[in-house]
Amino acid sequence: MFKAILIEKPEAAQTVRLAEVDDAQLPEAAVTVRVEYSTINYKDGLAITGKSPVVRKFPMVPGIDLAGIVESSASSEWRQGERVLLNGWGVGETHWGGLAQRARLKSEWLQRVPERFTTRQAMAIGTAGYTASLCVEALVRQGLTPDRGEVLVTGASGGVGSIAIALLSHARFKVVASTGKASEADYLKGLGAAEVIDRNELSQPGKALQKERWAAVVDSVGSHTLANACAQTKYRGVVAACGLAQGMDFPASVAPFILRGVALLGIDSVMAPRDLRQPAWERLARDLDSAALDRVSTVISLSDAIGAAQQIVAGKVRGRLVVDVNR
Ligand code: NDP
Repeated sequence: MFKAILIEKPEAAQTVRLAEVDDAQLPEAAVTVRVEYSTINYKDGLAITGKSPVVRKFPMVPGIDLAGIVESSASSEWRQGERVLLNGWGVGETHWGGLAQRARLKSEWLQRVPERFTTRQAMAIGTAGYTASLCVEALVRQGLTPDRGEVLVTGASGGVGSIAIALLSHARFKVVASTGKASEADYLKGLGAAEVIDRNELSQPGKALQKERWAAVVDSVGSHTLANACAQTKYRGVVAACGLAQGMDFPASVAPFILRGVALLGIDSVMAPRDLRQPAWERLARDLDSAALDRVSTVISLSDAIGAAQQIVAGKVRGRLVVDVNR
């Protein structure tokens, strides 16, 4: 038996509880992992609260991320005792996920935990941090260099935002952080933001083209914020869009793209192939200092996960929540 958060749907509404689950109920797959840490991402919040239809099969163990130790493996790729991590691949949506003490997973979904990190630090990064790194990688591949000017990070105090700031400032970009939490200005500057702006400056409907300011943008917010960020991006600037914290809509015009040559890059972490994941994790291992990771993360227990899901959906969480599934 092992402990897990279990989402069930006996009737129209889903229920969620901390449950004792039999090993025999684990899904079929090649590698069994003794989970040490998982996390609460925004998407886990949506899954656990049922606010969006993230979960596609019931009963479901949520948790799109996990890190732990291989317990047994029917795949030649993994040996017992190896430290592994997983981000995405539909785990926690269609296949039982990481908010549990045990998981059974496809071999090709797993990655080695970088030497530098503990399993707890790997989850302090989690999907949010790995997505931030995918965004930075995409901007740099597009030719972005620090001399091009300021980089805007929206949803700055969230998981993606916090780690994007740390990675960009380490790579010598001048970062401007947009946040709804004025009280977090010192936290954001501590991560490397040169300036902090109020997110209300970006969240209302705006003109199709505005004064050019940003060389690049990492946006985890969507909606009017993304539309305004594009409208303020400089000639041939680049915008990486990965989130929808404000909304799924994109009330914009094509003006920034066809008149200023702005590039809008879509970032998906869930099904990203290994050749994108690898450099993103290498950047994290190279550029993210342990002090920054400690600053952005809070460790909670498995029994706290359900309450934390409500908090993250309400936009009340700072940085990253790490779940110690054995606490
Ligand atoms: P968090 O909840 O940690 O951060 C989101 C941040 O957005 C909040 O902290 C808040 O920051 C800001 N925010 C919240 N509500 C609003 C609002 N109504 N209007 C404007 N800003 C708001 O989430 P994550 O960092 O984990 O994820 C961020 C987004 O990225 C989510 O939408 C998530 O689904 C998406 N995502 C997408 C991935 C992909 O593969 N494309 C992977 C990972 C995440 P502040 O208070 O500082 O303004």
